[in-house]
Amino acid sequence: MNVLARIQRFLTYWVIKVTHGMLTCGEADRFMVDYLEYRLDPEVRERFENHLENCICCKDFLAAYRRTVELARACAEPAAPPAGPRMPPALMEAIIAARRGAAPPS
Ligand SMILES: [Zn+2]
Repeated sequence: MNVLARIQRFLTYWVIKVTHGMLTCGEADRFMVDYLEYRLDPEVRERFENHLENCICCKDFLAAYRRTVELARACAEPAAPPAGPRMPPALMEAIIAARRGAAPPS
């Protein structure tokens, strides 16, 4: 993003903030967890999302926060059991034959 685009975004943010009662970054920060857990009432959720659309800092922070939660959950999950040795095909055929009552293949 070039400098002029950043300045325009910054000015747009403040104009919207002043004219529409947009949340401050501090207010948005307090709502992050509740936002991710769908605990905000619709009016606050809309104001929060409006803030995110106009504030790259909070948007990046939310993305990092969401990724951190995902990684923490992944670490907390039990590891998959290690794959054991595969059953030899001849043994598998013998078991299938035995269950069918037929003589095992030789
Ligand atoms: Zn912000």
